Amino acid sequence: MDSDSLDMAAIEGLREQLQARRRDLLAQIEGVDDAARPVELDQQSVGRVSRVDAIQQQQMALANRQQAAALLRNVELALQRIDDGSYGACLECGEAIAEARLRAQPWAGLCIDCQSAREAGG
Ligand SMILES: [Zn+2]
Repeated sequence: MDSDSLDMAAIEGLREQLQARRRDLLAQIEGVDDAARPVELDQQSVGRVSRVDAIQQQQMALANRQQAAALLRNVELALQRIDDGSYGACLECGEAIAEARLRAQPWAGLCIDCQSAREAGG
């Protein structure tokens, strides 16, 4: 057996990690929806300073939500690759992605070489 390829047990373990992460992200995104509602403009109950705080918190919440949504998309794509049997192969060069990398980031779609090249190239 090819020592570079993931065995079924390893893939099932990663699938469970991905599913757990997907649940967390969905919960996070839904929670942020609450925080991202329009800032209350009632000046009598909310002072000017705390209104600024609320706007800053809202902007942070939106940024976090965008990050969570991007990660959620990668997690869902990884789950699809497990289902169609292409999981663990680099999307760019087709080489096996190192198992240690997948354990750290089960949603990784690129091997470390292609990921570095992409980050360097912008
Ligand atoms: Zn690659």
